[in-house]
Amino acid sequence: MAEYSLSNRKVLVSNKEMTFSERLYLPAIMKGMGVTLKHFFGKKVTYIHGKDLRNYSSTYRGLHVLKRDDEGRERCVACGLCAVACPAEAITMVAAERLPGEEHLYREEKYAAIYEINMLRCIFCGLCEQACPKEAIYLTDRLVDVELTRKDFIYGKEDLVEKMDNRIDISNRQHH
Ligand code: SF4
Ligand code: SF4
Repeated sequence: MAEYSLSNRKVLVSNKEMTFSERLYLPAIMKGMGVTLKHFFGKKVTYIHGKDLRNYSSTYRGLHVLKRDDEGRERCVACGLCAVACPAEAITMVAAERLPGEEHLYREEKYAAIYEINMLRCIFCGLCEQACPKEAIYLTDRLVDVELTRKDFIYGKEDLVEKMDNRIDISNRQHH
């Protein structure tokens, strides 16, 4: 009688007697040891955390930066689009009106008096960057620090806005 199979991938298992060398197991063990030794002395594919430095992709998405413009003014206008786009609800902000005399600090009439990202919620998806109409927020190749308390993972403007004497290059991200 013909044998039918739904997948046609049925393989008949061989029940033949083991040979003398197969019953000794030693040849198979030596062969396995050979494979182990080959990998032991071969090129390592793993990284030792803390010792080896991995090369990150040029589009790696790490810690955010809130950018300033060429004149050093904060670009963010607290429109909230990044917070709306964020699937993790990690962003909160409080908007404020720019006062006369603050034109050198903030680019437009409105700015973020408070801007916070909860790094424990963030999944580094980059949607905030894509949603921003002012090119104000970008994800960088920097890492979020290890902290001991939850509240320390809430990054405010003091952590996110780039420093004038330490501008963050985001040109890699602007090309993608
Ligand atoms: S990277 Fe994604 S999860 Fe993180 S703050 Fe931006 S939108 Fe939210
Ligand atoms: S970072 Fe961009 S999207 Fe978010 S509030 Fe500021 S201007 Fe709007």
